[in-house]
Amino acid sequence: MTTRSTVLITGASTGIGATYAERFAHRGHDLVLVARDEARLQALAARLRAQTGAAVDILAADLTQPGDLAAVEARLREDTRIDTLINNAGATLAGPFIDQATDDVARLVALNTTALVRLASAIAPRLAQAGTGAIVNIGSVVGLAPEFGMSVYGATKAFVLFLSQGLSLELAPKGVYVQAVLPAGTRTEIWERAGIDASAMPDLMEVGALVDAALVGFDRREPVTLPALHDAAHWDALDAARRGLIADLRQAHVAQRYRAAA
Ligand code: NAP
Repeated sequence: MTTRSTVLITGASTGIGATYAERFAHRGHDLVLVARDEARLQALAARLRAQTGAAVDILAADLTQPGDLAAVEARLREDTRIDTLINNAGATLAGPFIDQATDDVARLVALNTTALVRLASAIAPRLAQAGTGAIVNIGSVVGLAPEFGMSVYGATKAFVLFLSQGLSLELAPKGVYVQAVLPAGTRTEIWERAGIDASAMPDLMEVGALVDAALVGFDRREPVTLPALHDAAHWDALDAARRGLIADLRQAHVAQRYRAAA
């Protein structure tokens, strides 16, 4: 008898997370669904059990609350059936930085970065020990674009990209796959939750198309997946430029342009 692997998905009550839940259930995985809205999680779990026969547990948790977060971490540490973490829960904030309340900024950072890295930290040692499994972190193209005027949100997503790239380098040799998924604007509730009118944005990607593309990248074991980027050569050029810059750092010597005029 083979044991079905279990996928833990944060932010699974709606949007990208709920779509991942549906796709993994249809792929034959069991699920642990995490979000705050227990009624929505129950409804999704009941539907997926009926449609696919998957075993679906729910874990109602506010990932900005240390006690709730610790319970999810414990599940990831202890439940050896879980071999995949989809680190998806996230939010955004409307408006310019000077209009954003400091507590809202801190809560956004806690959800989009602290919770995400704590959950990765909870599962990674066990997966590395087992030599298998996957961690998928949902970033955003906003993390590449300070020009978009979403400075704190973009900064959290730049963190997600960097963390994913670093963890991929550390964990791939141990048999653990790490993927950063960078969606562009996608039709979900994230906009209205932040008080942004999404109907004014005609070019959003549909959430099913986004997750299906992300899963193509997942199946290919791509470290960074950009579903809305049409010419992959742009990503390769950015990465090559970054590597070129690193190669030009000579830390023992100040660059000529910073030397005081004689
Ligand atoms: P969404 O429809 O608003 O869903 C967000 C999910 O996160 C919900 O399930 C929500 O559930 C959960 N969540 C929010 N706050 C939480 C908290 N404090 N604790 C636990 N769960 C919480 O947004 P989405 O578009 O699917 O976003 C999913 C991820 O994709 C996010 O990381 C987002 O930054 C990223 N992303 C989205 C877009 C886009 O255009 N939609 C683009 C780039 C990246 P509850 O309310 O039940 O807790």
